[in-house]
Amino acid sequence: MVIFDYIKKTGRAPEEISQVILTHSHPDHIGAVQAIKKASGCTVAAHLGEKSWIEDIEQQHRDRPIPNFHSIVGGSVNIDKILEDGDVLELGDIRLEVFHTPGHSKGSISLLLHEDKALLAGDVIPLAGSIPIYEDVLASVRSIKKLRSIEGLDVLLTSWDNPRKGNEVYRMMDEGLSYLQRIHEIVIKISGETTTLTSEEWSKQILTELGLPPIVANPLIIKSLKAHLKARDHQNLLQN
Ligand SMILES: [Zn+2]
Repeated sequence: MVIFDYIKKTGRAPEEISQVILTHSHPDHIGAVQAIKKASGCTVAAHLGEKSWIEDIEQQHRDRPIPNFHSIVGGSVNIDKILEDGDVLELGDIRLEVFHTPGHSKGSISLLLHEDKALLAGDVIPLAGSIPIYEDVLASVRSIKKLRSIEGLDVLLTSWDNPRKGNEVYRMMDEGLSYLQRIHEIVIKISGETTTLTSEEWSKQILTELGLPPIVANPLIIKSLKAHLKARDHQNLLQN
C-alpha cells in the first residue's frame, strides 16, 4: 500500500498508527481505512453524521452512487470514536481540535493542529473553478466562515490542492466563498429565465456559464446545484 510505503520511508512503522480520523465518509477519503485498521489495529474516529455511510459502504453506494465506487473503497469499518465540534484530542505531543463544518456533507469535520497552526479542511472549502459538490450551500458558507474566523493559521491542508501557507490560507477561504456566491448568482439567474428545462439541461447551462465542461452534469452535481434553489431567498449567500 502506498500509504504504508510512505510511512516506512519516514522511518516509522504502519503498526504505530493508533488512530485514523476521517474528515467525512466519501469514497476518496475512506478508501484504505479498512486495510489500515486491519494491519495496525488502530481505532477509527469520525463525526456521527458520517457514521452510517462508513459502517455500511453498500448503503452509501445506494444513497450516493459514484463511478468506480468499489475500486476506491476497500470496505466498511466500525467507528470506534465519535467526534464532536470542540473536541480536543491529545495524541502524544499533538493537540488536535475538531470543528464541525457541514455543507459538503452533514458530518464533515476540519481539524486544527495547534502546534503547527495547521488546518486540515477535507473537502469543506471549494476550489474556485472546481466542480461543485455539496449538500447544503448555506451550511458550506457558514462552515468556511467559521474556519475563516480562526486566527493565526499558518498552513491550510485542503483536498485537491497543494498545501497553502501564510496569507494564502485565508485567500483560499475567501476565494471559496466568492466561488459559492458566483455559482449562486448563476443558478438563480438561469432558474429565473427558463422553466421548461430538464434538470440535466438546466445543470448544463449553469456549468457552461461557469466555464466548466457541461459533460460533468451527473446526478451528484445536479444535486449540488439544486442546493442553491433551497437558498434562493438569499441574494447574497455570504451575508447569511
Ligand atoms: Zn467529499
